[in-house]
Amino acid sequence: MASRVIPVDPFDLVIFGGTGDLARRKILPGLYRRFCAGQMPEEARIIGAARSDYDAAGYRAFVAEAIEEFGGRDCEQIDAFLARLDYVAVDAKGTGGWSELAQRLRDDVVRAFYFSVGPGLFGDLAERLHKNGMATPECRVVVEKPFGHDLESARALNATLAAHFDEGQIYRIDHYLGKETVQNLMAVRFGNMLFEPLWNSQYVDHIQITVAETVGVGGRGGYYDKSGAMRDMVQNHLMQLLCLIAMEPPAKFDPDAVRDEKLKVIRALDPVDHHHLVRGQYEADAQNPGYREETGDLRSKTESFIALRASVSNWRWAGTPFYLRTGKRLRARSSEIAVVFKDAPHSIFGPEAGRHRNILAIRLQPNEGITLKVTIKEPGPGGMRLVDVPLDMSFAEALGPEGEEIPDAYERLIMDVIRGNQTLFMRGDEVEAAWAWTDPIIRGWEERGEVPKPYDQGSSGPEDALMLLHRDGRRWREIRE
Ligand code: NAP
Repeated sequence: MASRVIPVDPFDLVIFGGTGDLARRKILPGLYRRFCAGQMPEEARIIGAARSDYDAAGYRAFVAEAIEEFGGRDCEQIDAFLARLDYVAVDAKGTGGWSELAQRLRDDVVRAFYFSVGPGLFGDLAERLHKNGMATPECRVVVEKPFGHDLESARALNATLAAHFDEGQIYRIDHYLGKETVQNLMAVRFGNMLFEPLWNSQYVDHIQITVAETVGVGGRGGYYDKSGAMRDMVQNHLMQLLCLIAMEPPAKFDPDAVRDEKLKVIRALDPVDHHHLVRGQYEADAQNPGYREETGDLRSKTESFIALRASVSNWRWAGTPFYLRTGKRLRARSSEIAVVFKDAPHSIFGPEAGRHRNILAIRLQPNEGITLKVTIKEPGPGGMRLVDVPLDMSFAEALGPEGEEIPDAYERLIMDVIRGNQTLFMRGDEVEAAWAWTDPIIRGWEERGEVPKPYDQGSSGPEDALMLLHRDGRRWREIRE
């Protein structure tokens, strides 16, 4: 099955923060891979912009090194790619370099500005782009998470951007939405007759969304400790996944139609009772420091793990819980959504056949793919014994050699920016609604002075997280790669 690569229109992409970690690890190698795939037209140009004092040649050497380290694929066209790169030294808070940057931009191509800098600089960048005549009505700005720390700061950020750009120009990245499987989730739901009639509380017992990491906070401890798993993962990535599972079919696959439906889901979320919430913090073990040692705050109350039960109060989902779980230093690096269907209403095979349930598992990482667990007869003689077998669709395998070419989330999303397609980006009101749901949960545990439960590194999180489901007569799926 060959995937088609359609080149995007010629563009100027300015990467503010073009010398930073995200640019090195994701944005620039991602652009190189799209270049290798033939998606970047001849006239495409990428301009790094930051305070560091590079000339174009120096920046190209810097980017070549980043691609060497993080590129992932070498199409032996690195020189041709580097020839499209340029660099202008600017200070988001100063005046130098801005007119030079303006002169480098062309009027007849797509113009995009990637704000790969801390959110504290968004306002300064937006203002200077305007002052220097670069912010044309058609230009696009890309902003990264974290989009605010709470509802108030998210509103302030939205207002800062809205002072200079229309909503249709703002691309808020949640890279989970750029994953192949996440989009496939929509294809599976809305492209097949098979699932949609069953996609409701009458047939779905519950849904589990797990994003498990094996890494700890490492060098990001200082930043992470001010945020925690709820702000860092749930408010954005896990809620976005929940929305895609729970939303009504949009009338068409267009940015506002999809985002309207996602927004309705967030607004239908009930407040979370603290009995349905478990926070954890990983402890030190013989080999590794614990969360508190890594962050340097031995009394930190920030969670590196969270599990909660969410309820979507609408006709489709009333009575079907959504269990969300994410954490660091867990057993395996594994992200998946599992739609667990109800038991068949009556077993004609008798109680000895055991309990069998269909589960649609959507794996986000590693090995993106979808598995449907179905029940069949155990082969061989000796009566009617039932077993569960997976119908497995790994995208990389299904697509053959082409599967290896599946663009990663950043590649896809940057190309969507150039194409002007906002479907996979968060709208301002979505982000605010997500914070409006998250804020009271966080306030609740702060007011109660709650301390996260300790958990062992390499485990599935604190014991209480297991109990969260046990109490409901359910259990988590195993975390494994
Ligand atoms: P970083 O490594 O600290 O890089 C920051 C960049 O901003 C550097 O290129 C820096 O370059 C530039 N910069 C700082 N102050 C500036 C100023 N006054 N004027 C112009 N440029 C300035 O940060 P990062 O990890 O790349 O993160 C960038 C953004 O992406 C942040 O909002 C972060 O939260 C978000 N993000 C990052 C990741 C990740 O994996 N790294 C993941 C998700 C989201 P100079 O020092 O040369 O000016």
